[in-house]
Amino acid sequence: MARPLRPAEIDDLFSRFAAQDPDPRSELKYVNPYTLLVAVVLSAQATDKGVNKATAPLFSGVDTPEKMVALGEANLRDAIKTIGLYRTKAKNVIALSRALTDQHGGEVPRDREALEALPGVGRKTANVVLNVAFGEPTIAVDTHIFRVSNRIGLAPGKNPREVEDRLNKVVPQKFRLHAHHWLILHGRYICVARKPRCPDCLIADLCRYGDKTPVAGSAPEIERRVLTKKLRTSSVKQRQRRGR
Ligand code: SF4
Repeated sequence: MARPLRPAEIDDLFSRFAAQDPDPRSELKYVNPYTLLVAVVLSAQATDKGVNKATAPLFSGVDTPEKMVALGEANLRDAIKTIGLYRTKAKNVIALSRALTDQHGGEVPRDREALEALPGVGRKTANVVLNVAFGEPTIAVDTHIFRVSNRIGLAPGKNPREVEDRLNKVVPQKFRLHAHHWLILHGRYICVARKPRCPDCLIADLCRYGDKTPVAGSAPEIERRVLTKKLRTSSVKQRQRRGR
């Protein structure tokens, strides 16, 4: 494993994110803490774009737990049927709306334990809601943050909780509030899973990833293309020999 980033490098990394995007925002659309909570629950294993498409018409009329309970599970299912796992999600959203109405006066609680006790709400969702709706400096580790934190040597960890704990240790307090969004957006658009856009990356000189995507036409890129071609030719020849 590459050596983890040093504190000065981490400071530099987040300073660059902050200079580029001083006020990063969630790409999920919502109108209040309740609709944010619902949107985050719906976004599990789905894209923000897909969730926004379904929630735009939904939230224009249904923006409180009471209204959601009144809408009912069957109608909600119909409204979100373009989102993956919509049956389970509809069930959870109705159950959590009922719990908010019965136990929290129809308000989203600003409390991790109370949030995590709601149906369909895990640690990641609670972290997003605490951060986005209430301005708490929490870092929700999703697939992008998990990949980026490990890949670049920022906060290596075997599972999301390990990465979250490490991020909470190494990210300077002054960057903690926005760290979640900077890392998600970086992972979503630049440090993508299959072929990270290293030539366009503003933290490339700090990043410890050992297999960066080379600049097109550069010596390492040409070398890589030649090697890939050689490997392909050799495997075709092997298959041909086996076929004889
Ligand atoms: S240099 Fe490449 S691997 Fe490193 S953070 Fe940037 S995009 Fe990701």
